[in-house]
Amino acid sequence: MKGVPEGELNKLRALLKGARRAVFFGGAGVSTESGIPDFRSQDGLYRQKYKYPPERILSRTFFEEHTEEFYEFYREKMLALDAQPNEAHKKLAQWEREGKLSAVITQNIDGLHQKAGSREVLELHGSIWRNRCMRCGRSFPVQRIAEGTGVPRCPCGGIVKPDVVLYEEPLDEAVLERSVAFLRAADLLIIGGTSLNVYPAAGLVDFFGGENVVVINRGAPAADVRGALFLDAKIGEVFSAL
Ligand code: NAD
Repeated sequence: MKGVPEGELNKLRALLKGARRAVFFGGAGVSTESGIPDFRSQDGLYRQKYKYPPERILSRTFFEEHTEEFYEFYREKMLALDAQPNEAHKKLAQWEREGKLSAVITQNIDGLHQKAGSREVLELHGSIWRNRCMRCGRSFPVQRIAEGTGVPRCPCGGIVKPDVVLYEEPLDEAVLERSVAFLRAADLLIIGGTSLNVYPAAGLVDFFGGENVVVINRGAPAADVRGALFLDAKIGEVFSAL
């Protein structure tokens, strides 16, 4: 593969060969090759011209104070309903089927791991595919938000809110606990497509107690992952070369 030394690919191949309980921890960079922009890349959402940075728009305060503007941004930038899994999503699903990988822990909300066939997917930040009325709790398909305009409403009058964790909102305890359990039991940790900037999610990787850590990312992540084999490359390209 162009750009990644064969020696590093071989080390990764060897680690995967011996793995029985690998865990993958990923972020928005896993889905850029499916056409969904991340936050911090060159063509990520931070470089695009908005009145506010994406993290402000995707915060609970903004949601409550500028609900209509929130949905405008959300419909345009976060709802990628036609996006398809790329090689990274597909390989992870394959490794789970083959008994090498026990879980995917993702910060993504796009549902592409499940579309690729992964079963054990821990969605730290929720999913665009689940939506509920904030007043009566009724569930709605994503089309309720995608196909409407303005603020989506339930027949009871409540606002229909996506089941995604906004900035300032807590992460789901059960998802966190399961993630920690998988990380503690893991024999290999592969971190990919994440700047490791968003906490508490990024801090989870510290629960991995094993020796073998691989980071596949374009550019070094914000947090220093000690002892990791680092591949500075596109994750879909790396995975398709394995
Ligand atoms: P981030 O934008 O902070 O970082 C993404 C990282 O991935 C960057 O370091 C970038 O260089 C790298 N990257 C981009 N494309 C890559 C590729 N093809 N191969 C390897 N590396 C690649 O994203 P984050 O760390 O996930 O944090 C941002 C937050 O916003 C998270 O909660 C994230 O899930 C959410 N978000 C989700 C989506 C989605 O669901 N697809 C999209 C945008 C943001």
